[in-house]
Amino acid sequence: MRTSIKIKRQFIPRPEKRPAELKSSEADEEPPGRSYTSADPEEPPGKTAANRHRFFEHIPDALWNDWRWHFRNRITTVDQLAEFIPLSKEEQAQLKLVTMRYPLSITPYYLSLIDPDNPDDPIKKQAVPSSLEITMGTIGQEDPLAEKEDSVVPGLVHRYPDRALMVLTDICPMLCRHCTRKREWRHGGWVRNESEIEAMLEYLRRNSGIKDVILSGGDPLMLSNRRLESIISRIREIRHIEIIRIGTRFPVVLPQRIDEELCAALSKHGPIWLNTHFNHPRELTPQAAEVCDRLLRSGVPVNNQSVLLRGVNDSVETQLKLCQGLLRIKVRPYYLFQCDEVQGTEHLRTPVETGIKIIEGMRGHTSGLAIPTFVIDLPQGGGKVPLQPNYVLSQTGKELLLRNYQGNLYHYRNPGEQAYPDLAATAGLFRESGSPLEVKGAEDADRVVVRS
Ligand code: SF4
Repeated sequence: MRTSIKIKRQFIPRPEKRPAELKSSEADEEPPGRSYTSADPEEPPGKTAANRHRFFEHIPDALWNDWRWHFRNRITTVDQLAEFIPLSKEEQAQLKLVTMRYPLSITPYYLSLIDPDNPDDPIKKQAVPSSLEITMGTIGQEDPLAEKEDSVVPGLVHRYPDRALMVLTDICPMLCRHCTRKREWRHGGWVRNESEIEAMLEYLRRNSGIKDVILSGGDPLMLSNRRLESIISRIREIRHIEIIRIGTRFPVVLPQRIDEELCAALSKHGPIWLNTHFNHPRELTPQAAEVCDRLLRSGVPVNNQSVLLRGVNDSVETQLKLCQGLLRIKVRPYYLFQCDEVQGTEHLRTPVETGIKIIEGMRGHTSGLAIPTFVIDLPQGGGKVPLQPNYVLSQTGKELLLRNYQGNLYHYRNPGEQAYPDLAATAGLFRESGSPLEVKGAEDADRVVVRS
């Protein structure tokens, strides 16, 4: 039973100091904060960082807009968390055990999106640990995608012939409870050093089949702008690499990071695509919209890869709101992932049928642009498999029986393999005079007769 507890809800910032995890001199070079766009008081709850003024009203805008301040003041202990979210003594004791295995990290910005009074809050479920991470913790695997096996040099995963993944750090501003790389959390924060980066680049230079490089982590935007640009510019010098992609959740959990300086750096080295990870419509705040727009204006297209999570976004209604909201901020809903079978995430996983039903419920009820591809990332590195409702009820060589989103049935003539009459047979039909052919209309459903 939940006991009544008194919540202080007054945030005490930590003393200003360098983040311990950033071991290089980069912390000194990190960007100034951007100006703050005040939340419209008439916005509905949840659409803005509604709890900023409830929890952080004494924090000056200059600090609130500084991503380094948020990083330094992440909520990383259960005692800190209990100052904002109602937790009984028993729950606190359980969560302390959970965090010994799976640590906790929430940015003040993301915390401000949580409704602390709703035990089933979908934002909270992504950020706040659950005792189920341990009680169901033997289900699944630590590394179901076998990422370690495909590492060709430390930090470089080369699984597909034309693509490679550079893991630049294991640090993330927030630790998402559904993370596929949860196994890495207890190894502490690291950033690849220069010799490791150079070894990865050398591999890329020697493998001309690689056309597409994905910067990943952790979160690669944990690196300073200077370091990131140094890496990106060296990738750009490799002539056979066409595309650079960045996988980051910063636009969702700490949009302050996407400042003008970063966007100016990215704009010099395109084509760069950025894939981010919005899971719920309440994450689409004005701040998030602003930085996605900033990226787009810098020539960086933004795609969204969400993860289907129980109690977070596992309904048609929520997915419609999320994906239509993404289109409104000009972000393309790209993938909806079935949650990987990672240990410590089972309580958030849904049956595969849920994802298929969601896609079915969206199709026909919104623009096709708003419908992501539902995929399973196969175990043992088998790659992504798209899944969708079955609209083909029967099929022969000549005809398909299809159903539409309303359940109505339609016959569809199948043109077959050979779309045109045999060219050799028709060659003799040409007159030497070269007069144009007369094409007679189809005499039956499958044939076009050509005669001179
Ligand atoms: S941002 Fe991505 S890598 Fe980092 S904890 Fe969240 S899901 Fe994992």
